[in-house]
Amino acid sequence: MTKIIKTDGEWRKELTPEQFRILRQKGTERAFTGPYNAFKGEGVFQCAGCGETLFDSRAKYNSGSGWPSFFQPASPSALEEHHDSSHGMQRTEITCAKCGGHLGHLFPDGPAPTGQRYCINSASLAFKEGAFKDAKEKP
Ligand code: FE
Repeated sequence: MTKIIKTDGEWRKELTPEQFRILRQKGTERAFTGPYNAFKGEGVFQCAGCGETLFDSRAKYNSGSGWPSFFQPASPSALEEHHDSSHGMQRTEITCAKCGGHLGHLFPDGPAPTGQRYCINSASLAFKEGAFKDAKEKP
């Protein structure tokens, strides 16, 4: 995957202040405030920074956490995992593999079939209706 490298100044021009704070400065939106938390649209969630397809609505579920939650990524290569020991916690941070944008964290308390919970900030996502990755492979 070709990585996207931009300066903070370039990112600031493209992103909203909230998107910049979360994607580029590893911020977190307040629980239950993001537009995609209770969102039930069918399609894919792309990176708000670079447009890479990250998650599919068919893997979205209500975790009760207050953040959009998914039990698997749209493709394993779309995400990168990093050890995060900030705020006195040991967590796994999730970033976009293409632009390095901070998305959220991964917890091992999700539902079947993976048991994983990808806990993602709405501000890091851009929804595209109906654009399932496998849909374009069908006639
Ligand atoms: Fe990205």
